Amino acid sequence: MAATDLSALHAAIRDVPDFPKPGILFKDITPLLADAALTAQAISAMLEPFAQRRIDKVVGIDARGFIFGSMIAQRIGAGFVPIRKKGKLPWRTRGVDYSLEYGTASVEMHEDALRPGEQVLLADDLLATGGTAAAALQLIDQSGATLVGSSFLIELTFLEGRQRLAQSPIVHCPLRY
Ligand code: AMP
Repeated sequence: MAATDLSALHAAIRDVPDFPKPGILFKDITPLLADAALTAQAISAMLEPFAQRRIDKVVGIDARGFIFGSMIAQRIGAGFVPIRKKGKLPWRTRGVDYSLEYGTASVEMHEDALRPGEQVLLADDLLATGGTAAAALQLIDQSGATLVGSSFLIELTFLEGRQRLAQSPIVHCPLRY
């Protein structure tokens, strides 16, 4: 993808200081989503290293990963699988607990959402500390499906979240801060 296109994507992401709490610079993707052409470019950029790969299912993380993951899945003709916060999925689930800055959180996936042998791409809007994505990778691993890679529109490189995703053959983030 051309550098000029990436700069248009950068320009469409709004920095919101001190949200949701003091000291956090929140990357707001809603201005990007409001522009159909830029959103299509963002999906192309997220898929760039996976163009020649067979992907059966795209797994998206609650909640903004549902937006990007669903669009990626539709673009490439793959199915979509949600990973949700504990207690939200209606069918039988597998869960993983992971640690946050304060305390712990849990994410779940339906136990029949992925089958052994399926090729899977993980998607979310943003890679920060990598805790959430690492938990998602554990759920994918437990399913017996094959992870092709992970794609995040935005990476906050100073948090080094990529180091927690060593089991992902490719960690792709077109917009890096
Ligand atoms: P982490 O588990 O620390 O990698 O956090 C990743 C999740 O938190 C992603 O699903 C993001 O949507 C959200 N997130 C973390 N930090 C930010 C930020 N600075 N701006 C926007 N979203 C964030």
